[in-house]
Amino acid sequence: MSPAPRARSERGGWSWTIGSLFGVRIRIHATFTLLLAWIVASNTMSGEGTAATIRAVVMTLSLFAIVVMHEFGHVLAARRYGIVTRDIMLLPIGGVASMERLPDDPRQEFVVAIAGPAVNVALALGFAALAFALDRPLAAAGVLEHADWVGQLFWANVVLAVFNLIPAFPMDGGRVLRALLALRMGTDRATATAARLGQGLALLFGFLGLFSNPMLVFVALFVWTGAAGEASAVHLRASLAGLRARDVMATSVIVVDADDTLASAVELVAHGFQSEFPVVANDGLGRRVVGWLGLRELIAGLSSDGHGQRIAAVMREGATSVGPDDALTGVLEQMQRTEGRAAAVVDRGEVVGLLTLEHLGEFVAIEDAIGMRARLGAAP
Ligand SMILES: [Zn+2]
Repeated sequence: MSPAPRARSERGGWSWTIGSLFGVRIRIHATFTLLLAWIVASNTMSGEGTAATIRAVVMTLSLFAIVVMHEFGHVLAARRYGIVTRDIMLLPIGGVASMERLPDDPRQEFVVAIAGPAVNVALALGFAALAFALDRPLAAAGVLEHADWVGQLFWANVVLAVFNLIPAFPMDGGRVLRALLALRMGTDRATATAARLGQGLALLFGFLGLFSNPMLVFVALFVWTGAAGEASAVHLRASLAGLRARDVMATSVIVVDADDTLASAVELVAHGFQSEFPVVANDGLGRRVVGWLGLRELIAGLSSDGHGQRIAAVMREGATSVGPDDALTGVLEQMQRTEGRAAAVVDRGEVVGLLTLEHLGEFVAIEDAIGMRARLGAAP
């Protein structure tokens, strides 16, 4: 369906890896098995024979193979620009490729977005040629169910290409639109415009879905939340442009030692506001940030190992450390790439500040409020 800027769930909750291709893991979400179960159940209950049920399941699996090829169109186009994709997730409403980032250059985004539907156009032409070679008629769309498998796969690709090109950001067509708008008005405004149109279309999908295909309601939810999420991510990046880490970092930072116990961290959480702690350790060259202890790790550690466990044993390894003069847009990218929710600002071996996504979000909200007053011409 569409490339997503980053993976939501890292540890694959409710999904299984079924294989990998070009170094990209292909995963199916648990709800996908519900879809297959639904197809089997609805075929069985409507009195279709076993053969018809098997045909329906095979057809569904073929459709998802086509969806995977569509996603690989995006993935391989992105790879040309040095963008790595972690995995492709198959959901009942389609596939989502989790790329570590999306291209900043609108021309590159255009190519990455159009590459998915282009695969479907190519496949449709292939199935049309096959139908011609085998002398099978391509049934009209209205009698899709009566077409044989070549015709069904031809029409499936036509529908996928057309459906994905609907300009409902963050679907492919919406990304194409955003890329074209960004060439004229800058990414921030282009995203806001594309997201508004996307959310308007999502409302329409949701409404139509209520009266026709319930699957459309899920697509509407996907488009709605995706559009809102990406608009705020792009807005965050635009608002942080030109700022350095020291401009926004929280300065009263409590760090914890890798050798301390979870009990000491419980004390810190109980008596302070900080819930994300840089973990420092001595590595011979001096004290370095070696990981993070968040509430999630703390609670998991407490319930499995108890108070006496060392922080080093439960922390999230891999530290995002930045310098005080680093550009915030780069810091944000680094935080998102490492799936870290925070970055330590380190100056000459000492942790002097802390940056978290929540903190950056609050900063931007305040900036927006000030900017809004200025635009309204209010007195300071
Ligand atoms: Zn797509």
